[in-house]
Amino acid sequence: MTEPRTRVVSNESLFDRAQAVIPGGVNSPVRAFGSVGGTPYFVARAEGPFVFDVEGRRYIDYVQSYGPSILGHAHPAIIAAVTDAATGGTSYGAPTENEVLIAEEMTSRVEGLDKIRLVSSGTEATMSAIRLARGTTGRDRIIKFAGNYHGHSDSLLVAGGSGIAQQGLVGSEGVTAGAVADTIVAPYNQIPEIDDTVAVVCIEPIAANMGLIGPAPGFLEGLRAACDDAGALLMFDEVITGFRLCRGGAAEFFGVQPDIWCFGKVIGGGLPMGAFGASHEIMGNLAPLGGVYQAGTLSGNPLATAAGLAAMLHLTVDAYAQLTAIATRLGDGMQAAFDKAGVDAVVPRIGPLLGLFFTAEAPTEFESAKAAADNGVYPRFFHGMLERGVALAPGAYEAIFPSLAHTDAEIDATIDAVTEVVATL
Ligand SMILES: *Cc1c(COP(=O)(O)O)cnc(C)c1O
Repeated sequence: MTEPRTRVVSNESLFDRAQAVIPGGVNSPVRAFGSVGGTPYFVARAEGPFVFDVEGRRYIDYVQSYGPSILGHAHPAIIAAVTDAATGGTSYGAPTENEVLIAEEMTSRVEGLDKIRLVSSGTEATMSAIRLARGTTGRDRIIKFAGNYHGHSDSLLVAGGSGIAQQGLVGSEGVTAGAVADTIVAPYNQIPEIDDTVAVVCIEPIAANMGLIGPAPGFLEGLRAACDDAGALLMFDEVITGFRLCRGGAAEFFGVQPDIWCFGKVIGGGLPMGAFGASHEIMGNLAPLGGVYQAGTLSGNPLATAAGLAAMLHLTVDAYAQLTAIATRLGDGMQAAFDKAGVDAVVPRIGPLLGLFFTAEAPTEFESAKAAADNGVYPRFFHGMLERGVALAPGAYEAIFPSLAHTDAEIDATIDAVTEVVATL
């Protein structure tokens, strides 16, 4: 064996090396700091509300893996569950008890959700859900809303939020005109025309990939009725809201039931897992019961189901009340700091979900969200916070994700940092 190379451990040096071997140095575009400038911090480890970079700096983390780490990083119950699962083997290609347990847990929480199929990401969930909707209705077209993000599958990559908006793209190169020909894009918070060619209307019931924008009063109810009138299915993409907003997700929160649900992020407890589900009848169209094919070598992976189950078992009604209290303290404190400094900023909060717009009035759809995201304030705010040891997402379209591990001390330190940074804006 040769001596290990002397490790030059700095964010800068790792980013240089990363860029030589990974496009943009990252495995998901938002992480590259493209829209805020500068060098990404490379994470060495994380614990509770904190991430630590390779230079030993500690940050209060509001990225939290963009949602999955709802209990905070490296939660002991998840570490124990994953460790225990790993000692029994990491993948089998045969069914396991934990797959049954997590499906029972999820379906018992959500009214109308009878069956779920596990996949390995939110992208896979929405992609498969759309195929299922088309197979169920025998129709081709889908409607999505501008600024909603449903993962990176071809037919959904138009007018997307999150990283696709950050890059200023309306869609992606490499997607054929045919792949998006059946995708209709509608403005959020307006009921679109739905005719009898539409298989499914896809929506983030709370838009959390263009900042945070809630549904206007009556919007989801109206959409439900319009889908019923047109014989189209309604799909809630609950990859962010599912099991984060409250015990039963957005459907419970708003009292509107979709036909198909998509989940991800929280349900994997920080490991790669997504799911889609529906009634017995609709899920009966999925192979091996029906003719809509969908499969996955690592679907229902034993490490992911163990982590997800451990997370879900901690997500009690009390836990949601606690997370909402944490988000409220943070959101109110940030808003007060902005107001006191006379900075035009809105910190929208819906239950435990938080957003941030540098604008006087909260946007209700993508165009105004885009104007707020692109006005140049966020990058300065982001770097001011990062310098003070607070890690927000490196993009203005992302939500703020406090976790259950964030205590009053971290929240108050964050608000102090906001107060300092707004004085420099
Ligand atoms: C993150 C996200 C997805 C995609 O999930 P991945 O696991 O990143 O593929 C889909 N829909 C929504 C609403 C999301 O926030």
